[in-house]
Amino acid sequence: MHTAEAAQAYTERHRVALMRTLSTPQLVLARGEGCWVWDVDGRRYLDFLAGIAVNSLGHAHPVVVETAGRQAATLVHVSNYFATPQQIDLAETLRRLTGAGEGGRAYFGNSGAEAIEAAFKLARRNSTDGRSRILSLKNSFHGRTMGALALTGKPTMQDPFRPMVPGVDHIDSTIEALEDALDDSVAALVVEPIKGEAGVVPLPDGYLRRARELTEEHGALLIVDEIQTGVARTGDWFAYQHDGIRPDAVTIAKGIASGIPIGSLVTFGRASDLLQRGDHGSTFGGNPFATAVAGAVLEEIERADLVRNAAVRGVQLREAIQGIGSPLVTETRGRGLMVGVGIADDRAAEVAERCLAHGLILNAPNASSLRIVPPLIVGDEELEEFRDRFSRALADL
Ligand SMILES: *Cc1c(COP(=O)(O)O)cnc(C)c1O
Repeated sequence: MHTAEAAQAYTERHRVALMRTLSTPQLVLARGEGCWVWDVDGRRYLDFLAGIAVNSLGHAHPVVVETAGRQAATLVHVSNYFATPQQIDLAETLRRLTGAGEGGRAYFGNSGAEAIEAAFKLARRNSTDGRSRILSLKNSFHGRTMGALALTGKPTMQDPFRPMVPGVDHIDSTIEALEDALDDSVAALVVEPIKGEAGVVPLPDGYLRRARELTEEHGALLIVDEIQTGVARTGDWFAYQHDGIRPDAVTIAKGIASGIPIGSLVTFGRASDLLQRGDHGSTFGGNPFATAVAGAVLEEIERADLVRNAAVRGVQLREAIQGIGSPLVTETRGRGLMVGVGIADDRAAEVAERCLAHGLILNAPNASSLRIVPPLIVGDEELEEFRDRFSRALADL
């Protein structure tokens, strides 16, 4: 793909001015609308990555535009010495949607990693003499801050930053490994229902139900990381709801405010009493701006029945991918609008690059997988555009 002038100039400035932790940007984007974004040279792309499962309502959705504008003109931030109606409303909405209900409580931070850090402290508060281990899964991803990194099951990400926060054991993602590891020494088990960064890899059938039984039996907390899977993404409000279980805590972030930074830890039942005054906090966390937008996004997801749209469109999306019949596609995985595509011969990066050349944004979290997580608002037209662009990209290879 040729790089036009404006993008090239910005890319050079990015290379010089931004921390090297960031890779060279694939595009320099200027604006968005619905499932589409435009780059600084005016080219249009179908956005089936949605800022990594973040832009639930797509770009420039009127509900986000109106709520953010109104709240910015009213009250943006006050600190947690003070409450606001927006924050209380959102906590109550999350209690309802997560199923935590009566006895549930919400904590607000500003990102996924912060939600996980709060969950880590919750696990420590469930620790006693002889009960201190936290179990997490190999190849999992829970974020980049030091506590979240300790939970993340990717040694290559951890190695440059050792020593890790102690007390975390990483186990295989099988029911047998869980049964072997879970005993009275475990304070908490932390799991993603579908591992997003690993390439959209679901837990084995029955895993969450077994995890619920075993954690209950041994007094460990079951903490479900729904930062990527949550907020309607998989065709239910939260992925654990497909399994009919209630966790002790759930972490939420990416899709909840369609792009405004906010993260939350919601606790259930007895877990709601573990963190006490002074145990945790955040200056920005739960401010009226972010919570107003999150509340409006959740309301719009309910009003427009996007939970159902995610379920229905997800099936159509996978059928469309399989229908292309490319030998490069080895399988499709996931649930709802969280779709992983297995790509043969470790050519996923090449496929993603060809997609971009055909005006389609998705990503390759590893050499053999594509991740497709479009806005929850996708309809017939966008799916048709996707099919067309994706099949042309595959035909190039
Ligand atoms: C993205 C993600 C995180 C980290 O969220 P940040 O907002 O990037 O800190 C944690 N867990 C899961 C499952 C994620 O997908």
